[in-house]
Amino acid sequence: MPLPLTTEVRMLKGVGPQRAEMLAKRGIRTFEELLAYLPFRYEDRIHFSTIREIQPGGTYTIRARVASGGAVQSLRGFRKADAVYHLLVQDDTGSLPCKFFHGGYLEGRLKPGQLVILHGKAEIDRLRPARIEMVNPQMELLSGEGEDSTEVGRIVPIYEAIGTFGSRGIRRAMYMALQQLAADFPDPLPAPLRQRLGYPARREAFIAAHFPPAAESIDALNAFSSPAQRRLIFDEFFLYQLSLALDRRAIRRENAIAFAVREERVREALKRILPFKPTGAQKRVLAEIASDLEKPTPMNRLLQGDVGSGKTIVALEAAVIAIENGCQAALMAPTEILAVQHYLSARRILSRAGYRVELLISGLKPKEKAAARERIRTGEAQMVIGTHALIEDDVEFARLGLACIDEQHRFGVLQRKRLMDKAAKHGHAPHVLVLTATPIPRTLSLTLYGDLDVSLLDELPPGRTPIETRLTSEPHLGGVWEFLRGEIARGRQAFVVYPVIEESKLELKAAMAEYARLSKEVFPTLRLGLLHGRLPSEEKDGVMQRFRANELQILVATTVVEVGVDVPNASVMVIEHAERFGLSQLHQLRGRIGRGGEKSFCILVGPQRMSDEARLRLETLVRTTNGFEIAETDLQLRGPGEFFGTRQHGDLGFHIANPLRDRELLELARGEAFALVEDHAQAAALQSVLRVLPPHWHQRYHLARIG
Ligand code: ADP
Ligand code: MG
Repeated sequence: MPLPLTTEVRMLKGVGPQRAEMLAKRGIRTFEELLAYLPFRYEDRIHFSTIREIQPGGTYTIRARVASGGAVQSLRGFRKADAVYHLLVQDDTGSLPCKFFHGGYLEGRLKPGQLVILHGKAEIDRLRPARIEMVNPQMELLSGEGEDSTEVGRIVPIYEAIGTFGSRGIRRAMYMALQQLAADFPDPLPAPLRQRLGYPARREAFIAAHFPPAAESIDALNAFSSPAQRRLIFDEFFLYQLSLALDRRAIRRENAIAFAVREERVREALKRILPFKPTGAQKRVLAEIASDLEKPTPMNRLLQGDVGSGKTIVALEAAVIAIENGCQAALMAPTEILAVQHYLSARRILSRAGYRVELLISGLKPKEKAAARERIRTGEAQMVIGTHALIEDDVEFARLGLACIDEQHRFGVLQRKRLMDKAAKHGHAPHVLVLTATPIPRTLSLTLYGDLDVSLLDELPPGRTPIETRLTSEPHLGGVWEFLRGEIARGRQAFVVYPVIEESKLELKAAMAEYARLSKEVFPTLRLGLLHGRLPSEEKDGVMQRFRANELQILVATTVVEVGVDVPNASVMVIEHAERFGLSQLHQLRGRIGRGGEKSFCILVGPQRMSDEARLRLETLVRTTNGFEIAETDLQLRGPGEFFGTRQHGDLGFHIANPLRDRELLELARGEAFALVEDHAQAAALQSVLRVLPPHWHQRYHLARIG
């Protein structure tokens, strides 16, 4: 009897309770979730190579018989599982030795004469250069002479094992699930769209992605570009972009307060607070924001600008407009240090217009916090600045009209929505301005911020001298300290950054220990401060204040200073263990200097011996200060998951799709999804798409909207 997609995987033969449990841990409970677990690679088992064809350096799939095998205890004291297993296989053309490190588990499992399939790279045996061998090839044991059709004579899907559920077991389960699957298979793509794109139906796409037809190109499959795979990748992007498009439509249908922006008193207030002449880019961006704020629908805008481009003042100008219109404005920052800094400068700047600025961070004493909350509730606080503390349940705004989020890449999408909800209680949605200094390659900004309009601050304020970046290594630290001493003698200040707070087994230099050493041994006559995330709020504050006031000349810190910190007199940034940091992170750190008129220096200190990859990364920084170029390189080197932290990436629900590899499908899917939502003529088609989407999609969509 055909089974629906909602059938539980434990109904499958060969999936007992134990395996069902393992699958469940990976989020696979139903047939549908099982089908989404696609092979990571495909093997051509129609055409095998013969052993005689094998050349060193090539990758081959061969079918051969076991000649002999046995584990060899490699070194004394090693556990049995760590032994090296030696296997000799042969076919009609010759024999091939294989080595399996940590191969103890194979002992006793292979019988002479047994058929196996091996896939791997051929190498020259280092001890016997005349011999070719395979080291740790992938191996599959064939069940016997009656080879079944899932394993040979076809293009075979290779799955990543799930616990002890290996590729072969998963393949069988998949095969059976597909065999038993009911024919009525929901397909979320409207038929005309599917035909226009020339995609196979979703059911056929799953079948062909798991068990490709023999005529399919193996190279296309391994590049994830077969028609079936493209269809499934498109689906993931399409559904995600659909949620963004719906989100955006929902926001546009909400009411926001239309602010008066052209009135004399607003212009006056804006003029009064500006501490300097805005750059052309700042003026242009403020005009874009102002025209959003004039409308009775909520602004939903991303302000992207490289480190130091002057985003803060733009946010404060927007706040002035909100406050002059009788509303509150909020600014949320990812760290306490940054929140406090924004608070101090906002207080200085906004007091010129007589506004009351409030700080809300979790480090406040309970009494202070309660008082702050009360002023936020009554509306006495006009500009509210804080950390995550702002989105806690017990924070209630009198009349929030503008919500700004600084360094959004540090927050999840949900946190943005939560701040928006703080205003929704009063029957209107707030205008939202999101600030980010992580220049995001377009593909990724489409996935992460696809529901936002974008403004670009592409001009640095005048009077900046370019930062000079140098790469050096540990043995030259003495010279670095000498240089630093010279800069300090000329009145400058410096940051010295370490990757960890306390010493650990990783043998990384730690901020605490180095602070002690630098204070005592290297700079005994200078004033040093220590800053890291575990210090109590008050202490962090104190240290930052003294550094800002130039009472401290060197700030030894962890990456707590990574975002936002603005001390224009600091002109040297030394980063030890620079090889441990991501490129974008280093770019942010470097952005802490070069903020005054003085020439600034960033010194990256790496180990004496560095991998090529690490050197390549660090040299990118030496070569350029262009944040976009750095982000592109970072993305290429690390992949999208790493780039954003896996949490955010996983939230997007991509199993097969990879925004980097599949850029062009992403753009295509985005265009189609937005057209479907925004074109009124397609309302019926949209409804039928929404009807077939699985509950978890609705749930994710709902979560993303409501928070
Ligand atoms: P970011 O975009 O990295 O958040 P900030 O808002 O912290 O940058 O601004 C960086 C520095 O530039 C601050 O010291 C700020 O006061 C200064 N600044 C911003 N805009 C201008 C301007 N138009 N003219 C001069 N200095 C400016
Ligand atoms: Mg900033």
